[in-house]
Formats: sequence, C-alpha cells, structure tokens
Amino acid sequence: MKKLLTIISICALIFSCNKEKKEMEPVKTSTDEVATETQEPTKPEETEIWEPKPKVVTVDPVTKMPSDAIVLFDGSNFHEWVSAVDSTEVKRALNGDRSMTVKDRTGDIQTKRNFGNVQLHIEWRSSPENTGSNQSKSNSGVFLQNRYEVQVLDNNDNDTYVNGQVGSIYKQSIPLAKASSKTGDWNAYDIIYHAPEFDSEGNKIKSAIITVLHNGVLIQDHYEIKGTTEYIGWPKNEVHGNAPIKLQDHGDNSRVSYRNIWVREL
Ligand code: MG
Repeated sequence: MKKLLTIISICALIFSCNKEKKEMEPVKTSTDEVATETQEPTKPEETEIWEPKPKVVTVDPVTKMPSDAIVLFDGSNFHEWVSAVDSTEVKRALNGDRSMTVKDRTGDIQTKRNFGNVQLHIEWRSSPENTGSNQSKSNSGVFLQNRYEVQVLDNNDNDTYVNGQVGSIYKQSIPLAKASSKTGDWNAYDIIYHAPEFDSEGNKIKSAIITVLHNGVLIQDHYEIKGTTEYIGWPKNEVHGNAPIKLQDHGDNSRVSYRNIWVREL
C-alpha cells in the first residue's frame, strides 16, 4: 500500500511539473506558429497573440509624415544630398514652395546615407514649359540602391515605349496603370522596396522586390527586379550592399521638381 502511495505521489509530481512547464512556454508570436503546434482550437483565446506589440507610429496631420521616417527633403536644405557625379554640393534650385528643381546637366544627386529595404515617399512634378517628346519630356527617375530606376516622365499626350513610360521599372516592368497628374501638377510615388541578396560567391540568391503606388494607384505589384535598369543592354547583377537613393538629371532640360521626400527603413 505504501509503495502504491509513493508511485501515485511521483506521478502527481511529474504531472504537476509538466503542467508548470507548459504554462511557462514562450508566447506565440504568429498565427502560423499557433496553428502548427496545436489541434483545432476550441476557444477564441487559443488563437490570440498579445506580444510583442507593434511599435507606435504617429502621422503628422500636416506633413503626413510618419514619426519614424527619415526626412530626406522638406524644402529647407540639401543636407541629406550630394552630387552623384563628384560628391560635391547639390546644384539644384531650391524653390520658395519647398521644392527643388533639376538644373540641366548638373548631374544626378544621391542621398548621403545608404539604404536597403525601405518605404519611400516622394513627390514630383513635370514642367509645363517642357515641350519635349518621347523620353525627353520631363524625364527623371528615382533609383533605389543607385541601380534600379522607377521612371519619372511626363506621358500626358506623349507616347513612348511602355516599359519606359512613367511608373515603369525602366526597361523591365510596364506599369499596371498610368495614374499621372496633369502636366505641372504634383504626383506622389509610394514605394516599398526589398533589396536583393547575394551569397559569398557573388551569386544573387534573392531578387529585389518592388511595389509602387502612383498617386495612390497600384502600378507595380511586388515586382521581382531582374537586375540593373540599363538604357542599353540586359539587366546586370553585380554584388552590392546598402546604397544611396538617386534622383536623375536626364540631361535634356527636364526641369522636373521634387518635394516631400521621406523614407522609413524596413
Ligand atoms: Mg528616367
């Protein structure tokens, strides 16, 4: 009898330890994790995740800028930028309406900081005085990691090849829509970009992925970038790490303006 009581006590102890261990299991952080580890839940609490809580980001009611964004250009100075040609100071016009305008043939400009995965907001405006055609009507461009161009172009009453039109990933991806503002009005690009990855031998193991909204309209939907956006030739895939964001001077008196540029690192 005494032996039986001892066995029962040991079993109770093991059961109690297991229960305690179960209660101390780490908090689940994703629905997938919960789903793979449990049977079909029977209570709502079994599929609730409480930790970790997402960080709090507020949006400025006037500038619409998120509180964790890095301001790249607010119209007051070029502190975040440098000439992409020779690393000297930026030679673009700083306008009274808190925008900047490309001065012809002064070269591309790029951020002083290097970036990888980002959410980028940028506003641009074509020039009504620009009477060019095809690729020479307010041509500029937003280059992610100094290599991958989202085309800026005035395609209002101006035809061009569609994989080089406004909102294209230049010579790679035709935009899903043309959502341009009227010539001379402001456009906004909101870009979600994930950088490519390379192995130690220099092979690309993951392509860059880009999503673009033009004036709130989805124009590039999780597009897998094939490589550099070349004017002539196929995309190239040289190894690179974080790199600047670049704004193009197309060299044909584009007079494109930019304003409200901010970025969130992802
Ligand atoms: Mg361009």
